Amino acid sequence: MQKQQRYLIEKLKKENRLSEAEYEELIAHRDDETAEMLAEAATVRRKKIFGDAVYMRGLIEISSICKNNCYYCGIRKDNRFAERYRLTKEEIISCAEEGYELGFRTFVLQGGEDPYFSDDVLCDIVSELKNGHPDCAVTLSMGERTPESYRALFDAGAERYLLRHETADARHYAMLHPAEMSFENRMNCLKELRETGYQVGCGFMVGSPGQTPATLAKDLTFLQEFKPEMCGIGPFVPHRNTPFGNEKQGSLELTLLLLSVIRVMLPEVLLPATTALGTIHPQGREKGIMAGANVLMPNLSPLYVRKKYELYDNKICTGEESAQCRGCLEARMNSIGCRLTVDRGDSPVFLKNGKL
Ligand code: SAM
Repeated sequence: MQKQQRYLIEKLKKENRLSEAEYEELIAHRDDETAEMLAEAATVRRKKIFGDAVYMRGLIEISSICKNNCYYCGIRKDNRFAERYRLTKEEIISCAEEGYELGFRTFVLQGGEDPYFSDDVLCDIVSELKNGHPDCAVTLSMGERTPESYRALFDAGAERYLLRHETADARHYAMLHPAEMSFENRMNCLKELRETGYQVGCGFMVGSPGQTPATLAKDLTFLQEFKPEMCGIGPFVPHRNTPFGNEKQGSLELTLLLLSVIRVMLPEVLLPATTALGTIHPQGREKGIMAGANVLMPNLSPLYVRKKYELYDNKICTGEESAQCRGCLEARMNSIGCRLTVDRGDSPVFLKNGKL
C-alpha cells in the first residue's frame, strides 16, 4: 500500500477528520488496499456502537408528482413519460399498519415536491400516524420547505428529516439543478431543520455528472462540520428520460469506500445501504453494510405504485428489498453476521444528549 494512503487512513482513524486536500488525495489515489483498510476500520466502529444490529425503516413513497426539474431525477417535472400518482391519507396509514405488523418502528414518508402536501395535509397525516403508533418514529423526506413548515411538521410529531445536500460545491450544484433551484436554499433548509430539533439526514449521489475527487472532498468536509445524524449516499443511476440519461452510472467501489470513510469520520451516524446500491449490484446492500452502513430502508409503498416512483432506470422495488420480504432481508443480514432489529433506531447522539 502507498505510504501516504496509510498515513491518511491512520490520521482519519485517530482524529476522525482530515483536511479537504487530504480527502481529495485519499479519493484520487485510492486502491484496493485503501478500501480494505477503511472497511476494516469502519466495521470496528459500527460494531462498537451498534453491535450486530441493522436498523430497518419502512419507506412509503407518497407522491411521484414534483414541481422541480433536477436534471438527474426520473420524477422531474418535465419528464412527460413519468407515471404520476399520489397516495391518499388512508393508503399511507394502511401501509404503515402493514409495516407495523411486519416489525417496522420507523416510517419514512418520501415524495416529490408535490404542492398538494401542504402543511395542513401533511401534519394531519403525521399526527394520525403518531397517534396510532406512539412507539414509532416518523421521518419525512419531502424536500425544501419553509422554516414554518418544518416547525409545524415537527410539532405534529415528525422527528427526523432527510434532505440530501446533493453536493457541497455550489458550482457542481448548478450543474445538477436548473437555475431556479439554489444551493444556498438547500443549505439553509438543512440549518433550519437542525435548529428546529430534527434528527437530520443529508447526503449525495456518488458519481453524479461533474463530480470529482475535489467536489467529494467538499462533501466530506461538509459532513465533518455539519455532523448529520443520518447520511444517505448511493450511486447515481441514469434515468433514460432525463437530461442525464446517457451519463455513466456511479461506481460500486467508490460508493463502498465513501461509506467506510463516513463511518470512520462519524462513528455514530445512521448510514443506509441504499436501494440504488442494491440496484447496481445483487449483493449491493450486504456490501454496503460490510463497508460500514447500518440501516436498510425496504419499500412499503402499495404494490401498484412501486414502479411509478422511478427515480432511475431499473430501480429494484418488488423483490427481496420490499418490506413484505422481511424474512429474505433477515437471512441476507444473518449471512453477514448481522441482525435486523425491531427498534426505532434513534441517533445515539440524540439519545446521549437527552434530546429524546
Ligand atoms: N423530493 C425530496 C428531496 O428532494 O429530497 C425527496 C425525493 S428525491 C427523489 C430523493 C433522492 O433521490 C434525491 O435526494 C436524490 O439524491 C435521489 N435520486 C434522484 N435521482 C436519482 C438518480 N438518478 N440516481 C440515484 N439517486 C437519485
